[in-house]
Amino acid sequence: MSSNKIKVGILGATGAVGQRFAQLIADHPYFEIAALTASDRSVGKRYGDACKWLLRGGMPSAVADMLVMPTEAAAIPSDVRLLFSALPSGNAGAVEEELAAAGFAVCSNAAAHRMDPDVPLLIPDVNPDHTALIPIQQARRGWKRGFIVTNPNCTTTHLVCALKPLHDAFGLAAVNVVSMQAISGAGYPGVSAMDILDNVIPYIGGEEEKVEIEPRKLLGNVSGDGIALADFLVSAQCNRVAVRNGHLEAVTVKLNRRASLDEVAAALTGYRSEPQRLGLPSAPDPAIILHTEADRPQPRMDRLAGNGMATSVGRLRPDPLFDYKFVVLGHNTIRGAAGGALLNGELLYAQGYLG
Ligand code: NAP
Repeated sequence: MSSNKIKVGILGATGAVGQRFAQLIADHPYFEIAALTASDRSVGKRYGDACKWLLRGGMPSAVADMLVMPTEAAAIPSDVRLLFSALPSGNAGAVEEELAAAGFAVCSNAAAHRMDPDVPLLIPDVNPDHTALIPIQQARRGWKRGFIVTNPNCTTTHLVCALKPLHDAFGLAAVNVVSMQAISGAGYPGVSAMDILDNVIPYIGGEEEKVEIEPRKLLGNVSGDGIALADFLVSAQCNRVAVRNGHLEAVTVKLNRRASLDEVAAALTGYRSEPQRLGLPSAPDPAIILHTEADRPQPRMDRLAGNGMATSVGRLRPDPLFDYKFVVLGHNTIRGAAGGALLNGELLYAQGYLG
């Protein structure tokens, strides 16, 4: 039976993020999975055989018997409109460009194109207007139907979801963040048990640079044919901790305008944006959950808030050096990766870019 859903493919479908895509899209109201790709190691195998399934609830039956395809335009059926990319960043750069040039819309998790001036770095709750870069990108690169949209690094995503209402209401002057990042953020098999058990690793290659620049693009404004970066600095220290899923971040902010604790709390709890207004299927409502308990949020208890799409904030209090400090928690492979890209796809659909 044919459906009216938009056919989509998952690039890097066998990895940690690729599996999340398969799980989240299996029963999606707008999208239907029509292609799964991976590396030469997996090509030609049944997805169920190529993929060591890591998620609770088992592999969706609709994908188990699909054959894994090469990650090439010629191999992907031409009726596929949208590709969700969970490719390693090293491969993603050239491959995503080839696919966009061939006419596919690409929603990428990879870092390769995030800071390209003509590529939207998108969180639908934060900067839905940045999709205005798509026609600029297509004109500049000579692409007719295809384009690339990216979602941020998993630590950046939840940080910026919490910063956005504060930036809108009071202006951000400076941000300091110390992250405690889950091991699933390093993919599968990721960090060895010998390295991480009984330990904290105070270094994640390339992470601090991303967390220091991506918020400024996300909170920047469309200007001419690019984005004018938001005018504040971020200082980040990123750590890997022995948690399976859920990144916790200790954040301190300096504001441009004085605000009371109640005003800051109200800005966070009252925040609603385009995904809630449009009723996008993956949008959490509320997008931000403000905890008042002294010891929350915690990864094990709160990472699945809003089906893993909400941002949890807690321990909001004044700070003696800056203005306020708080902790932020979010699911790194759901909202921080596959769920974030899926929400981008839903926004593109609602805005008419997949027509
Ligand atoms: P992963 O578990 O290592 O999976 C990588 C996937 O890419 C696998 O499907 C693999 O296929 C495929 N692949 C590897 N080399 C390839 C090649 N040369 N051509 C085509 N496919 C290839 O990685 P991950 O954690 O899912 O991360 C995927 C991307 O999302 C990365 O760019 C990462 O930085 C980003 N990201 C991850 C997270 C997170 O929390 N994990 C969060 C945000 C962003 P085989 O199985 O066949 O090798």
